[in-house]
Amino acid sequence: MDYTALRKLMVEEQLIPRGIRNQRVLDVFYKVERHKFIPEEQRDNAYADFPIPIGAGQTISQPYIVALMTECLDLSGGEKILEIGTGSGYQAAILAQLSKEVYSIERFELLAKKAKMLFDELGYKNIKLKIGDGTLGWGEEAMFDRIIITAASPEIPSPLIEQLKDGGKLILPLGEILSQVLTLFEKKDNKLYSHEICGCMFVPLVGKFGLLKND
Ligand code: SAH
Repeated sequence: MDYTALRKLMVEEQLIPRGIRNQRVLDVFYKVERHKFIPEEQRDNAYADFPIPIGAGQTISQPYIVALMTECLDLSGGEKILEIGTGSGYQAAILAQLSKEVYSIERFELLAKKAKMLFDELGYKNIKLKIGDGTLGWGEEAMFDRIIITAASPEIPSPLIEQLKDGGKLILPLGEILSQVLTLFEKKDNKLYSHEICGCMFVPLVGKFGLLKND
């Protein structure tokens, strides 16, 4: 399978026509080998326009949604980012190419370990991983310039609001199971300003300050 050709098609048929314009973002989508983050039995679909199961009942988002969230974070290269929901590690790898460092938290040990092995194999040195409840944030490493939550919640977990720097941005699928709006928040003078991006569907954020307390 010619993954380089499929990656080019993904960018040119899914991302550019739907309005992803930031050239740094597009360049990274041409480059990062998405198929390596997809379970082997699903690799034929690695560059397809839909979410894919990654184990533990979780999914990797379709490429366009990953690109849209990345573009919304408006990265210039020096940022310290917190990601909640490492999953396959693909979103973290994309972010790591566009920022200074990524701190990513995953609640499933199985997924976190797989992602860690991949980051080591692919040479990502600026991604730090932790297994645990991301709704509590990562207090020892706060504050963050950007926070990305890749699981759905009806509100922003309060520790994450506290760990976002003033002038920082946070994005998440805001809503209930099966129905969410991708929402971008900006923190200015310690107030949050929100901007709705589009409808979306993510797996639930599960944790103390999440949509579900446990599953
Ligand atoms: N960003 C991922 C997509 C993740 S799907 C990727 O690029 O593949 C959402 C992930 O969030 C799942 O792996 C799920 O286990 C995780 N998750 C849900 N609630 C969480 C929590 N409270 N803390 C950490 N991870 C959580």
